[in-house]
This record gives sequence, C-alpha cells and structure tokens, in this order.
Amino acid sequence: MIDDELERLAQQVRQCRACETELPLGANPVIQVGRQARLLIVGQAPGTKVHHSSIPWNDPSGDRLREWLGMDKARFYDPQQVAIIPMGFCYPGRGQSGDLPPRKECAQLWHQQLLKQLPNIEVILLVGQYAQNYYLADKPKTLTDTVRQWQNWAPRYFPLPHPSPRNALWLKKNPWFEEDVLPALRARLEHLFAG
Ligand code: SF4
Repeated sequence: MIDDELERLAQQVRQCRACETELPLGANPVIQVGRQARLLIVGQAPGTKVHHSSIPWNDPSGDRLREWLGMDKARFYDPQQVAIIPMGFCYPGRGQSGDLPPRKECAQLWHQQLLKQLPNIEVILLVGQYAQNYYLADKPKTLTDTVRQWQNWAPRYFPLPHPSPRNALWLKKNPWFEEDVLPALRARLEHLFAG
C-alpha cells in the first residue's frame, strides 16, 4: 500500500541524521506529507521557531505565505491537501546575513523518493531561489526574472519569492508581483482545490 510506503518513508526522513554534525541545534526534520495532497510547497529550510515547534511555516513567513495563497491554516496544515517539503528539512544555522542555505545533501537524499510517493501532486510552489535552482531547468539568472516569467513554468511549477519579512524591500520594488502574480496564483489554487 502506497500509504504505508509513504508513512514508512516519512518515518525514515524524521529519523535522518545524515548531516547532524553540521547542524547547530541538531537534526529535527520538519515535513508534511499525505498521499492525497495535490499541492506541494517546496521552501527553503526551517527557522528556529519551526525547529522548536516542529510545525512547518509556523512563523511570520508562513503567515505571509498563507496570505499570498489565500489559504487558511485548516487547509494549509491538512497533509491530504498540502504537502510541505523544504530544500533542507532541518534548521541549518545562522550566517552573517540571516539563516544559512539549506543543507545540499537533504534534497539529494530525499526529494525524489518523497515525490515518488506523492502521485497526486499537480502544482508545486517553488518558494525562493534554492527551490527554483533545484527544480527549474534553463531559468533566468535572477529570482525576479524567474518569478516574472511564472507562466513559463506552468502548469506544474509556480515560482515565488520567499515571504520572509526580510524581503519587504523586494515586494516594494516589484509591485507587479502582488498586483498580477498573486491573483493568478490564487485562481490556480482555487481551480486546483475545486477540481
Ligand atoms: S538536513 Fe536533511 S540530510 Fe541533514 S539531517 Fe536533516 S533531514 Fe537529514
């Protein structure tokens, strides 16, 4: 049964300690998966709040992401509707300008295995440059151009900037994102969940 396989795989992920020696707070892989999920969110890596609560997107970035998606917490945290698999499943630590990048070995170890067990995914939100670099071939160099050309990646992928409060300046400089892209994204999701 694929449900059992997915659950077994999720257990393996939660027990992963592959790069624990590099993680300042130790390993605590945070993912959300369910066989029926049709939307997948691929973000960056947990921050400290997510690490301590083990709840994905349980922070101001998550609040903004849900606002962008027009989605309440009940749907967002239903694993049979929404799967959440970041590029790195554990908090990677802090660098000079914010959190460190997600650990590279994480996506290589786990993403393809998890995707194989999520056969109903129709739309994948690529939140931030790390997810876009990993999933989009022949994309423009900058995140801004990648998001601006969102229609190039339809219908399966939808690139987004990271909703971190640190990106407030990017949002201010690129009003087309909230004016044009977000309504298109919400329409896509409405169609997805109505189907
Ligand atoms: S970041 Fe990924 S590879 Fe490293 S310990 Fe966590 S789950 Fe394993």
